[in-house]
Amino acid sequence: MSVDASGTWWRGTEARDIRAYLEAFTSSRRNVRVTDYRTAICPCGSKAFLVEGDPKEGAVRRTCLNCGTEHLILDSDERWEDAAPVRCRCVDCACEVHELGAGFALRPDKEIAWVFVGVRCVNCGVLGSFADWEIGYAPSRHLLDLA
Ligand SMILES: [Zn+2]
Ligand SMILES: [Zn+2]
Repeated sequence: MSVDASGTWWRGTEARDIRAYLEAFTSSRRNVRVTDYRTAICPCGSKAFLVEGDPKEGAVRRTCLNCGTEHLILDSDERWEDAAPVRCRCVDCACEVHELGAGFALRPDKEIAWVFVGVRCVNCGVLGSFADWEIGYAPSRHLLDLA
């Protein structure tokens, strides 16, 4: 894994680099720190997705570029009906294909406090945070398996 933080945008060489980006992105937020991370992988094995969602509502859907399978990540299905989704596009090269990963900030009791959805452009490697939202309920740890 390799992260280049020298330019305007952080760039990574593989999906796991999203984790380092999200950890840095959240380190400036008081009381919120990403300690757990999952890379999204389609059942077909692909990690390349079209990503769309509503960052305000906290709802994100990924569509596998290889097999077309759609997945509403984490608990997005609870809010998707009210969402006004926009397609995730790379800020540098405008590519719409991304790898995706979810970072989790845990409460002291190990339930999930906040989720962060990170992306990596498969074309140029730019890392970004697409959406984040609070998880205000428990049990919540099943979300770790729904990135
Ligand atoms: Zn697939
Ligand atoms: Zn790009």
